[in-house]
Amino acid sequence: MAEEMKPHVAFLPSPGMGHITPLFQLAKRLVLRHGIRVSFLVITTAAVQNFLHSAASTLSPGLSIIKVPPADVITADMPVLTQTCLSLRESLKPLKSILIQLNPNALIIDMFTTDAIDVCTDLSVPVYSFFPASTILLAFSLHLPTLDHEIEGEYVDVPGPIQVPGCKPIRTADLLDQVKNRKIDEYKWYLFHVNRLRFVAGILINTWENLDRSTLKALRENSFFQNLPTPRIYPVGPLIKDEEHLTDHKDEEIIAWLDTQPRESVLLVSFGSGGILSGEQIIELALGLEMSQQRFILVVRRPAHAKAAVVSFGNHDEDNNPSEYLPDGFVERTRGVGLVVPAWAPQVAVLRHPSTGAFLSHCGWNSTVESLAHGVPMIAWPLYAEQRMNAALLVEEVGVAVRVRIAGEEVVGREEVERVVRMVIEGEEGKGMRSRARELKETARQAFDSGGSSFDSLCSVVESWKTHG
Ligand code: UDP
Ligand code: UDP
Repeated sequence: MAEEMKPHVAFLPSPGMGHITPLFQLAKRLVLRHGIRVSFLVITTAAVQNFLHSAASTLSPGLSIIKVPPADVITADMPVLTQTCLSLRESLKPLKSILIQLNPNALIIDMFTTDAIDVCTDLSVPVYSFFPASTILLAFSLHLPTLDHEIEGEYVDVPGPIQVPGCKPIRTADLLDQVKNRKIDEYKWYLFHVNRLRFVAGILINTWENLDRSTLKALRENSFFQNLPTPRIYPVGPLIKDEEHLTDHKDEEIIAWLDTQPRESVLLVSFGSGGILSGEQIIELALGLEMSQQRFILVVRRPAHAKAAVVSFGNHDEDNNPSEYLPDGFVERTRGVGLVVPAWAPQVAVLRHPSTGAFLSHCGWNSTVESLAHGVPMIAWPLYAEQRMNAALLVEEVGVAVRVRIAGEEVVGREEVERVVRMVIEGEEGKGMRSRARELKETARQAFDSGGSSFDSLCSVVESWKTHG
């Protein structure tokens, strides 16, 4: 079919890689498999420059990127979410004229680009939201306006867990950071955006039926969600970035090293695109890995001065020298058994490799989905945002992970690191986690392939776009 005859969908992700990565994967899938034309709008902040560079080679007549300049309204001392939301509000001022020109059949937004809903209402363009996190966070978020109304004080002070209708209770300590203090701007921004989720035509989510079955059921069937009313939920995952072609020499070396290791023997250790540990914590982590005597790939960033972990997105800091902050002699002593990788590794390629046996992760949702879609059990070391909720899902509901014991903001000691690493790589519990992770991998493959639940779910959204306009 000629390009201009195909249904045309515009995408508007928040300018963070955790949002752009799965949405771009969805865009490519729609173009390649579903006969859709996509205009992918990107707010060109510093954090997305690497993406723009690598995406350029994957563009086709059906898939174009439209660059939107970022507004200069934020300062470095603002919390991440406040920066994102303020910048979006200003940067999206030209959105109406862009959409008038594009004239799409639908717009796909994400959690923090809901300002677009008003513009689309004016233009009669249906809006869908893509939720790049877990279903339990989606359910919590849809329930949040009610909690905000019903609960007087702080959620973290409520006795007992928070009960989202039909869902597994959430321990207050596991709640996402943005709702732990209701007086801060981040809470207000979060509430503002999730409050508007109800007004979209449908919510696409990066999960699949077998991973999030009980919460998906609650969203579809529980009377609370039916009465909201909740838009139709479309699980369309796992959407994972493809790392077929490693162009970087450093990446090739990592895969070549994995090629020489025994099957399912290597632990990948990485804290996402922004996680940074304290200096003391990196030392304990490294010594624990060494004590476990297991093989590993340790992706490290220069430590923070702060006592607790911090987040700094887009900071790849390629020239950091791990010998400066890892324990003395660590790199030499573990040579051959372990590989220390500064800043950034080709995570999906490592997880896909048969020598990879487990993943010690901060449990960001993309990392979680990537690990499980490749059948890799996890050690959950949540740091910020909603990662503690993800860890609870993985450990308590799905049974594919062990969680490190963290007491408040204390440093996790080397013995604890040794314990969880041994458990997941060579222990009996690890075997159970691995076999459940393998089963999940199979369900992920089935869901994603033609005729599977995620594939069919996406087909039904596509049908609704074809009939619009
Ligand atoms: N896949 C997926 N989401 C994606 C890309 C791939 O679920 O965004 C699935 C796909 O259905 C296929 C499998 O992952 O079954 C292949 O992925 P990959 O080549 O990464 O892994 P391998 O099969 O080699 O472990
Ligand atoms: N990632 C990567 N190499 C790294 C660290 C992260 O490729 O060394 C990718 C990872 O594959 C995932 C994303 O960055 O797609 C991290 O997203 P996630 O949602 O897990 O966490 P966030 O970075 O948003 O905290």
